[in-house]
Amino acid sequence: MAEMRRFDLVIVGGGPAGMAAAVSARENGLESILILERDSELGGILNQCIHNGFGLHTFKEELTGPEYAERYADKVRELGIPYETGAMVLDIAEDKTVTVLSAAHGVEQIAAKSVILAMGCRERPRGALNIAGFRPQGVYTAGTAQKLVNCEGVSVGKEVVILGSGDIGLIMARRMTLEGAHVAAVVELMPYSSGLKRNIVQCLDDYGIPLMLSHTVVDIKGKERLEGVTVAAVDNTNTPIAGTEQYFPCDTLLLSCGLIPENELSKNCGIALDPRTNGAVVDSRLETSIEGVFACGNVLHVHDLVDFVSQEASTAGAEAAFYVKNGRTPDETIDVTVGNCVRYTVPSRIHITEPFPDAHIRFRVTGVFRNTSIIVRSGEAEIFRKKNRILVPSEMLDIVIKGDKLKGLSGEINVSLEEEV
Ligand SMILES: Cc1cc2nc3c(=O)[nH]c(=O)nc-3n(C[C@H](O)[C@H](O)[C@H](O)COP(=O)(O)OP(=O)(O)OC[C@H]3O[C@@H](n4cnc5c(N)ncnc54)[C@H](O)[C@@H]3O)c2cc1C
Repeated sequence: MAEMRRFDLVIVGGGPAGMAAAVSARENGLESILILERDSELGGILNQCIHNGFGLHTFKEELTGPEYAERYADKVRELGIPYETGAMVLDIAEDKTVTVLSAAHGVEQIAAKSVILAMGCRERPRGALNIAGFRPQGVYTAGTAQKLVNCEGVSVGKEVVILGSGDIGLIMARRMTLEGAHVAAVVELMPYSSGLKRNIVQCLDDYGIPLMLSHTVVDIKGKERLEGVTVAAVDNTNTPIAGTEQYFPCDTLLLSCGLIPENELSKNCGIALDPRTNGAVVDSRLETSIEGVFACGNVLHVHDLVDFVSQEASTAGAEAAFYVKNGRTPDETIDVTVGNCVRYTVPSRIHITEPFPDAHIRFRVTGVFRNTSIIVRSGEAEIFRKKNRILVPSEMLDIVIKGDKLKGLSGEINVSLEEEV
C-alpha cells in the first residue's frame, strides 16, 4: 500500500482565499503546502464574475473577476506551490487527516500539520425561502444564472424579476439587460438594499431598473415554465400586506437572497461555529477551536469585496506558517463582545502577546445608521472611536486597534455604535 502523503499545510479550496493563504504561507517560509480544489481550475467563484471592479484595493486597478484570480494563480505557479484540481475534500478529522476524492488518487487520506479552511460560500436556494407556488423551470439563484450566461453562453430568459438585492442580484440585473432581457424589478424584503451602493447606482439606476424595497414575491405562477410572479408590500414584521399585490408576467425569477458559508466539513470536524456568521469561531490568528486549523474568506464570514478576502487569507497563511514552525505556547487573550447595533465580530478573541501586533476587527451593523461613532471599550476606558456619516449592513466594516492600546488589557473589549451628539 502506498505511504500516506504528508504536508505541513493543506488548504481546502483554491479560490481567492485559498490562493492568497498559500502565497502568504510560502512567503513566510513554509515549503510543504498542498491546495485541494474540487473544481477543474483555480479561481473559485471569481471565474464566473466577468464584470470589472475587482482589485481596486489590492492592485490599485480595475480588474475582472477572472483577471483578479489569475494574478493569484500566476503567483501560486511562480512560487511552485503544488495544487490539485478535481480534488474534492470529503472529510477533515480532528487530528488533521484530510480525506480527499480525486480521479488521480481515488479516495486518499493525507496527513497535515495544519489546515486552512477556504471553501467559500453558496447561495440560499428557493427551498429555503418558502415561496408559494409550483416548481417551474425559470427559477434560478442569481449565481447559477451568472454561471450559465457567463461561462456556458446560455440565455436564461427574456422577462426577468429578481428577488433580493444582494450584490450578485444587482450585477445580474445589469448582465441580463446587456444580454437583451428586460428586468422588470428587483424586489427586496428589507427597507434597505443588501448590496453595495455603487452596485445600486451602476447596475440599477444607470439602466432604469426599479428597486422595490419592503416588498417580496408571494406567489409563483406556472407549472412547467414560469409564467409570472406576484409581488406584495410587507409591513415592519415582514408580513405581506393584503391588497398590495402586483402581478409581473415573466419567464425568469432570479434569487439573490443571501450567501451561506460552506461549513459542512468544519461541522463534521467538530469546529465551533458562530450562529451569527455561520462561519467558524476564530481568534485574532484566524485559528478555529481546533489547534492548527485556520479559516478565511467567505467560509469564515461573507465578504463584500474580494480584496478583503485576500487580505484576511494572507493573515491565515502567515499564522499557519508560524504555527508549523513554532507550535503553540499559552498566552493571554481577551474576548471581543458585541454591543449596541453590532451584529457580529470576527475575531471573537484577541491574543495579547509581545510584540503586541495591531488587531483587525471586522463586523457588520444591524441596520442603517446615520451620524454615529464606532466605539471600542475595555471596561470604562475607550480604546477606539471613529465617526461615520452612514453605516449600512451591506458593507463589512474593518477597524484596526493599535497594538499599544491592547497592551495590559484583560477580560473583554466591547464594540458598539453610539449616536453622535
Ligand atoms: C455567485 C457569486 C457571485 C459573486 N460575485 C461577486 C462579485 O461580483 N464581486 C465580489 O467582490 N464578490 C463576489 N462574490 C463574493 C466572492 O465569493 C468573494 O469575493 C470571493 O470569491 C470569496 O473567495 P473565497 O476563496 O472565500 O471563496 P470562493 O471564491 O467561493 O472559493 C472557494 C473554493 O473552494 C472550493 N471548495 C469548496 N468546498 C470544497 C471541497 N470540499 N473540496 C475542495 N474544494 C472545495 C470551491 O470549489 C471554490 O473554488 C460572489 C459570490 C458568489 C457566491
